[in-house]
Amino acid sequence: MTSKRKVAYFYDPDIGNYYYGPGHPMKPHRIRMTHSLILHYGLHNMMDLFIPAPAEAEDLVQFHDSDYIAFLRTVNPDNQDHFVKQMKKFNVGEDCPVFNGLFKYCQSYTGGSVGGAVKLNHGNADLVINWSGGLHHAKKAEASGFCYVNDIVLAILELLKYHRRVLYVDIDVHHGDGVEEAFLTTDRVLTCSFHKFGDSFFPGTGDVVNVGHGPGKMYALNAPLESGITDEAYKRLFQPVMRKAVEVFQPEAIVFQSGADSLAGDRIGLLNLSIVGHAECVKFMQTFNLPMLVLGGGGYKINNVARCWAYETGAILGVQMADQLPDNEYRDYYGPSFRLVVPPNGDMQNENTGTYLDALCKRLLHNLSQMGSPNSVPFHERPPDYPLPDSPTQGPGDPHRVHRLWDGQHHGGDKDDRDLPAGVLRRESGGRARVDISGQEGDGEPRHPSAASAGPTPVQSMLRSPSSGVPNGVDKSALPAGTGLPPQGNAPPGPTPPPPI
Ligand SMILES: [Zn+2]
Repeated sequence: MTSKRKVAYFYDPDIGNYYYGPGHPMKPHRIRMTHSLILHYGLHNMMDLFIPAPAEAEDLVQFHDSDYIAFLRTVNPDNQDHFVKQMKKFNVGEDCPVFNGLFKYCQSYTGGSVGGAVKLNHGNADLVINWSGGLHHAKKAEASGFCYVNDIVLAILELLKYHRRVLYVDIDVHHGDGVEEAFLTTDRVLTCSFHKFGDSFFPGTGDVVNVGHGPGKMYALNAPLESGITDEAYKRLFQPVMRKAVEVFQPEAIVFQSGADSLAGDRIGLLNLSIVGHAECVKFMQTFNLPMLVLGGGGYKINNVARCWAYETGAILGVQMADQLPDNEYRDYYGPSFRLVVPPNGDMQNENTGTYLDALCKRLLHNLSQMGSPNSVPFHERPPDYPLPDSPTQGPGDPHRVHRLWDGQHHGGDKDDRDLPAGVLRRESGGRARVDISGQEGDGEPRHPSAASAGPTPVQSMLRSPSSGVPNGVDKSALPAGTGLPPQGNAPPGPTPPPPI
């Protein structure tokens, strides 16, 4: 059934050349490694392939502030010293550094997600994959957690032009805060995020008691998890909750953020999913047979990220893939096993007890039962703009805001997860027309220094002083999406409440 669905796949041959900087855990090269596995498994023959047309500034301001987008378009490593004030204001410089081609990078990954939404809207595809997208932390006027432009929000806004209700599902190890915040006050988008929560884990939001505001109350669903959750435990929570979500919300389209930092052994994540267990989630969502946009997200052990997203591409296509990896140009990354599926960490403790997960599941099902009947929003009604208020209502003392995703320590550089490939550029004509991207990389100039020349990591330049506080002194993540509505009492005012049991 699922293999007969028409699948479109977006990939920019340049994406692997963007480089956040030495030691930074976010490596767009993982998208190129994923693509290479997809090609060598022959999966590209079963999909329509597209190079994304870059999203333009006027597309990006459908969600983001124009000042913020103008800044992203202008700033570069050579002139950033002239933008100190703006960098602080927009939270750019540490987790989210300025690097060469930053704006083009944003245009590319966003172009794939929004272009994918357009294809779904027009019925040109039943399912669209954009592994470069899924940057769920970006806010209206603020970069966050390695994310600058929120391609997910923009893609959902596009889908809402043709679909009355969109279900957003996020299995990244981090809370999908940027997407939740953007749609916190609408009943046309149900956001569901499964994530590690507590112990100051980034971004600090996403407790089970956060359910949305105003008309959007009960249209945000959060599953806070402890460390070490296994495939079996995850499935036991995920499947009944998602089945109920589809039953009561009756979405007309699904956006699935498949962040791979929820995999066992991730450099930042603390969960213990195998690739098979991770892929079960997208496969399960596919059984509802709705138009679906599948996006990437986090994922910081890049050989496992590539394995995971290649495996999930195969799963979406209904292909049984050989466990022995095919020869490919990044073969050295996959030793010593050279296998597709990596097992979970058998020594890791699952800190989610059965009692906790049962109670959490019950709570989430209860929340969903409070949603009521699906709304009757007419077609073509665009969601209102949700400007953040100028005057913050909460200060930097809120304990739920954790401002750094990256601890500033060096990531990458070991044999299996090196920082840089021998990357090359190939510029092809854009547009959303079908193109052949199954060939080899073309020639061109590297956009960044080689791994060898990068040398030891000057991480100090990317570290924030612990006393420097919060950008703007504002905890925007705790605000109700800028609609001016007062909090309805479901945002925890203080420390993490006890488990919802
Ligand atoms: Zn993440």
